Amino acid sequence: MSRLGCTRLAKPIVAIVGRPNVGKSALFNRIVGRRVAIVEGEPGVTRDRIYADASWTGRSFTLVDTGGLDYGKDAERFVQMARTQAAVAIAQADVLLFVVDARAGLMPADAEVAEELRRSRKPVVLVVNKVDHPTVEESLGEFYGLGLGEPVAVSAEHGRAIGDMLDLVVSHFPQSANEDEESEEIRIAIVGRPNVGKSSLVNHLLGQERSIVSDVPGTTRDAIDSDVEYDGQRFTLIDTAGIRRKSRIDEAVEHYSVLRALRAVNRSDVCVLMLDGTELATDQDKRIGGYAHEAGKGIILVVNKWDLVEKDEKTMNAFEETIRREMGFLQYAPILFVSAKTGQRVNRLLELAVFVANQHALRIPTGRLNEVIHDAVIRRPPPSDKGLRLKVLYGTQTGVKPPSFVLFVNDPKLMHYSYHRYLENQLREHFGFIGTPIVIRLRRRNA
Ligand code: GDP
Ligand code: GDP
Repeated sequence: MSRLGCTRLAKPIVAIVGRPNVGKSALFNRIVGRRVAIVEGEPGVTRDRIYADASWTGRSFTLVDTGGLDYGKDAERFVQMARTQAAVAIAQADVLLFVVDARAGLMPADAEVAEELRRSRKPVVLVVNKVDHPTVEESLGEFYGLGLGEPVAVSAEHGRAIGDMLDLVVSHFPQSANEDEESEEIRIAIVGRPNVGKSSLVNHLLGQERSIVSDVPGTTRDAIDSDVEYDGQRFTLIDTAGIRRKSRIDEAVEHYSVLRALRAVNRSDVCVLMLDGTELATDQDKRIGGYAHEAGKGIILVVNKWDLVEKDEKTMNAFEETIRREMGFLQYAPILFVSAKTGQRVNRLLELAVFVANQHALRIPTGRLNEVIHDAVIRRPPPSDKGLRLKVLYGTQTGVKPPSFVLFVNDPKLMHYSYHRYLENQLREHFGFIGTPIVIRLRRRNA
């Protein structure tokens, strides 16, 4: 069995918290604003996101906006959900951006959030937003009273002092010294909606019942890691179970379980996305799948509760069709039908994870790669625009996990999405890359 390494340090998560209307979404947009949408046109990738990848002075991180949820008009419901929201965000984040509003001044709700933040002992950057003009800065004094240190005054709307704020955020990240440290185990994140069967699956793989942590919705237990060895290979299972869907705060819990999943995905090599055989491919499934895809992780789709599905010999194909249609961006992910309850096919999962981890780390010799590219270009000529035709000169693999390639072309602007996809499919046809996204970048080179 081959040795597989992985990066030790996961991408940090930065969560924006604060009471409604202080400008959390504005700040989120300001920070991620310059990001180029590389997945434009990919079918099925959910657009309404509460998270995005960003970077500052060479450090990349995942930014989470906790303000995107519509609570409706029910006041009590609102307060309860806001608490859940803050608690989950605090538990999952590495650094918290706590936003208050200079125009509104210090409010009791700010103090409440501050209290929770202090108790968490996590790094907090106190951000006073809506300081559109330097003159307003005089009124910042009251915010020192929150006990979270010196506030940084910004204007999300005008882009004022955002760099200073990000310098502070980045200064709290774990040191990157051992970022390249390799280890031999495969880290598997088990993610999916509440009640899909994550705990049951993990219990089965570990061969023991672990204590169910809590039945209280919104419980903010962090992901739990367990080590397991199979066929000489070590695995770490990153389990995100622990919240149950039971009360009227369902919606918020479901929403913020995405955050939990996101953190687990960041720390993994291979992501096992569990779907419920009785309720396939919901929006939340797509959201988590989309994230794992964009994060460049190995991906396995597991359809659980297969024992509950009324089936004949056509059912598996029909399920697969539905999944492929609904999650068009995960065509490459293998699908495994299991029952965590009866144990049916569960033992196949670790073998499949080893296979996918190898595909995720696959290197193609440059000569072979260029043969395939050359043949592909001859079989289907590249697109042209106003008499100019795209020329693909040669390619090289620049990295693994996920496999990444650079193609040297006469003019990157002449590339079309459909041709990009054709080339990707050609690589997949020849080399497999089963269960892993692949990245193809273009670089200009004069012919
Ligand atoms: P959230 O509920 O915390 O996500 O807040 P939003 O981002 O939706 O912003 C609430 C309101 O504050 C909106 O009307 C924004 O236009 C406004 N706002 C946000 N940032 C600023 C700012 O820097 N200056 C000013 N003057 N208004 C802002
Ligand atoms: P989690 O929230 O994703 O960790 O889900 P759990 O593992 O706690 O499972 C939620 C419920 O679904 C529990 O009542 C399980 O007994 C049940 N369950 C999990 N897997 C299966 C399965 O394969 N078949 C059936 N029939 N029930 C399952």
